Amino acid sequence: MKNISFKLKIALWTTLLITAVCTVSITGLIATSHVMTTGETKQRLISAVERNADEIEYKNGILEIENDFLFYSEGIYFDVYHMDNGGSWQCVDGKIPFNLSSNPNNGQPVKCTPENETEYYFYDVLINFNKYEYEIDAFSGQIIKYEAGSAHDAALTPKEYSAISFHNGINTEQAIEIALEHAGASKETAKIVNVELPGYSDRQVFSVEFTDSAPHYNSVFVRGLVLANPVTSVLGTVIKAIIYILPLFVILAAAGAYLLAKKTMKRVESISNSARSINDGKDLSQRIKVEGGNDEISDLADTFNSMLERLQTSFESEKQFTSDASHELRTPLAVIKAECEYAMSPNADSSEKEEAFVSINEQTDKMTRLVSALLSLTRAEQGTKRFRFELSDLSALSADICRSYKTEKNIQLHYNINSGIHLDMNADLIRHLLENLISNAVRYGKERGNIWVNLTEEDDKIILGVKDDGIGIKEDDLPKIWGRFYRADSSRSNSEGFGLGLALVERIAVLHNGKAEVKSVFGEGSEFTVTFFKKV
Ligand code: ADP
Repeated sequence: MKNISFKLKIALWTTLLITAVCTVSITGLIATSHVMTTGETKQRLISAVERNADEIEYKNGILEIENDFLFYSEGIYFDVYHMDNGGSWQCVDGKIPFNLSSNPNNGQPVKCTPENETEYYFYDVLINFNKYEYEIDAFSGQIIKYEAGSAHDAALTPKEYSAISFHNGINTEQAIEIALEHAGASKETAKIVNVELPGYSDRQVFSVEFTDSAPHYNSVFVRGLVLANPVTSVLGTVIKAIIYILPLFVILAAAGAYLLAKKTMKRVESISNSARSINDGKDLSQRIKVEGGNDEISDLADTFNSMLERLQTSFESEKQFTSDASHELRTPLAVIKAECEYAMSPNADSSEKEEAFVSINEQTDKMTRLVSALLSLTRAEQGTKRFRFELSDLSALSADICRSYKTEKNIQLHYNINSGIHLDMNADLIRHLLENLISNAVRYGKERGNIWVNLTEEDDKIILGVKDDGIGIKEDDLPKIWGRFYRADSSRSNSEGFGLGLALVERIAVLHNGKAEVKSVFGEGSEFTVTFFKKV
């Protein structure tokens, strides 16, 4: 798996995921629909059989199946079985197309497979004819009609009835006796449910209703038969189709996922190819090109490009720095070499030799100053980790530097320092910063000029300013003076400087969470400001 390409991995995982989701969904669908439809089918069967059972009764001693009895309804087949005098069940009518056991199975719907593989449920309701209804002429005592049916508990609850008697006719008790006698029921086992006079227009009739637990008519049962799972059987066909289609579907999904992954990875590959060619050619000026869209891949390419931009700037400035540094060192070295050769020549007298040694000494000092300036700058560029910072009195340090600074060219140093200003700082670096600014002001100042040093504090910042009325800086040079080895118009200034002082000032300001700025009018003077932002 480790050596498989990313495209293939994405395609494999996507296919696996799609297959798993499909399988789980189909299984879930089948399971849920099976449970739901089975319950619903059984309930439909039970109520249909019970409804049909209500349509069967004995009328005047003859078994009658009413017209409302449905032999086939909503996918359910019905049969009616009657017990003959020999005690065996005979099918008297019905539409069930299979041979099933002819014994009633009272209780729950039963599963059966009369046809190979096709499952059905059948449900039987046994009718015991426990309720009897008689209509008896109130004058003659003649039975007009009688019926026997099965009744549910609610219909068997005895009702209040009042005793009635007819002149020249029968009374309630006699009507009950006639009915019981005809049905062959005894007063002990029978229970009178109701006696009433329905009120026919032409004759007075007693209606007697009673129940009897002893059977007086042969039992009947109604059977219903329904397909066990119509939905599942349809689903079964669908599933079979799915099983055949699924492999094709998986292949399609895999191909689709692979193409998609390939399309996405193509752009990543293009980034990686560009990066490789930049690396091989060692050309940092090249940029990565990605076609299409403002998406994550373009974002990645942009990030690479801005990284390359920074690297290029950084490498170029390093190159410039090295070449400038070697150039600066080459001049004094060349002078030293020439002076040595001159001092060693047989023609040189002792005073000339001494002159050469003085010159060698000066050049060595210059080189020492350059090397230590380079070292300070390199250290400052390595960040805060190299230096110890502590909350110290910046006012005291600044005042001390100003007090002890020996200016030249009759320049006056004025300082206005607010006391008690504290900064989280490295005192050596801050000393370096202020001394650099003052020495520049002196170096580029005019005879009998002035230097003003100010230190003030505001809510969230501390401002250190060094102003002079010296030669000033041309507007074009202003942005460049912070660069390493940059010297504006070296003919105007003396050659003491290396062009490293302000680069170091800027680094020290940044290390102290600050920034260095300059304002200058050429010929009138310059003002350098370092702002330290207090950390919150
Ligand atoms: P340098 O060692 O040459 O002074 P810096 O980095 O300190 O190097 O300064 C860079 C250049 O900025 C200088 O060469 C000079 O031209 C200009 N500069 C710096 N400070 C002043 C100033 N106070 N007045 C005029 N020019 C200045």
